[in-house]
Amino acid sequence: MTQTTWNQEPHPARLEERLDDDVVRCHLSPRNCRIRPGQHGFCMVRANRDGRLVTLNYGRSVHATEETIETEAVFHYAPGARILSMGNVGCMLNCDYCHNWKTSQARYVEDKDVYHYTPEEVVDIAVRHGIKVISWTYNDPVVWHEFVVETAALAKAAGIVNLYKSAFFISGEAIEELIPVIDIFSVSIKSLDPKYYRKITKGWLEPVLEGTEQVYRAGKHVEVSTLMVTDLSDDEKTAREMATFVGERLDPSIPTHFVRFHPDYKMTDTIRTPVDRLERARKVALDMGLNHVYLGNVYDTESTNTWCSQCGLLQVTRYGLNADLVGVDADGNCASCGTRAPLKLLPDARRRNKVQDLPAGVDLDVASFDWHGDVRALHVQMRNESDAPATAYTRRYGDPAADGSWEIVELKPRESFRYIAAKSTPDELGVQVAIPDRCTSSLHQVFDRAHFPTVEVAAGTLNEDVSPLPLFQPGTRR
Ligand code: SF4
Repeated sequence: MTQTTWNQEPHPARLEERLDDDVVRCHLSPRNCRIRPGQHGFCMVRANRDGRLVTLNYGRSVHATEETIETEAVFHYAPGARILSMGNVGCMLNCDYCHNWKTSQARYVEDKDVYHYTPEEVVDIAVRHGIKVISWTYNDPVVWHEFVVETAALAKAAGIVNLYKSAFFISGEAIEELIPVIDIFSVSIKSLDPKYYRKITKGWLEPVLEGTEQVYRAGKHVEVSTLMVTDLSDDEKTAREMATFVGERLDPSIPTHFVRFHPDYKMTDTIRTPVDRLERARKVALDMGLNHVYLGNVYDTESTNTWCSQCGLLQVTRYGLNADLVGVDADGNCASCGTRAPLKLLPDARRRNKVQDLPAGVDLDVASFDWHGDVRALHVQMRNESDAPATAYTRRYGDPAADGSWEIVELKPRESFRYIAAKSTPDELGVQVAIPDRCTSSLHQVFDRAHFPTVEVAAGTLNEDVSPLPLFQPGTRR
């Protein structure tokens, strides 16, 4: 295995049990790994050092990234809100189709993809950029427990909402530590079939369901999703089982998302989920009594929108990762009949400040990226290479009906900032970035919402049916 440095600074871990002979047991996930001195657990980011349980990824993260809350399969909390997504490295599962295997499986993580943050720095990024929600996400926040709990508490004190997007293979004890600091739980339930769980995720099902019930009973905002994997779980059986779980163990009003799969990791010999199968699953779940069932990772369908349950008024339109409130008043009521909308609103959580035109007399480099095939989102990384503040700009272009204005991005000296730009209308052609000469930028194309790209556009694959990440090659473990 190639030596990496990102995992060489152990940090004391919570949920430790000390056993005889300097052996420790980890109580963070249901695996309860028993770890001998010098060894690590299944996730490879928690280890035994000199008879104590430590975490190897404290403050180690992929680049902090501004996104929209829809990225996280959260549709009923602050639609369209900008969020700060924080993903780390490692995972307590190993799903055959993982969309983030380059960072979730610690053995493949390279130093170049790992950034170092303190809790204070994370909160500072959110505050300076006017972001009201921090999302603990991507690979999986469970294995980042200490950093999440400490930073979320700091963020909460600063008035920031915390969102936890997870496969939720986590112990009840760990959930009790999250409940005081996390406001929103978006749980990805991989399947309701115990055999599928064992075979495809290497975890097991019941703790996931129990954990979801635990946070629901604690009064948290909960939404659930399931990835509909082509020919494996994209059938009516999955839809029926999800509807039964949500309806009987949670509440029929919990938003439920059926998410489109793309081939990745060890599962590339297949195709993207046919959208008609997703639509069929949605109909089955609605017919079984669920109130809000949505599709994910799809464009050009009305099955991502929200309507008033009383009068049928269209309340939220969604296109890809973008949302617009169109039928809800400022108090959160239906604009037609006045019925309370099933949405929690968060004031001032949406757009950045804008200008109609780029400033005259300022030397700016303008780069353009055109949407192509199924690549309809882009991570844009901007770096201020100077010791003075800098102002950059970004906009979507090409739609004659859009206003064409530029959003303003203020960068502090030496700051590296990353955000997602997603196609927002059917006629939009792409995204443009304008930066002053003391800044640099790089572009990373995004295939689906839960996928964190680590490879720049020029180095990625343009195969429209496969992730732009490098393809997983069996037998290439480092
Ligand atoms: S988090 Fe889970 S997989 Fe990792 S060491 Fe703890 S029990 Fe094992």
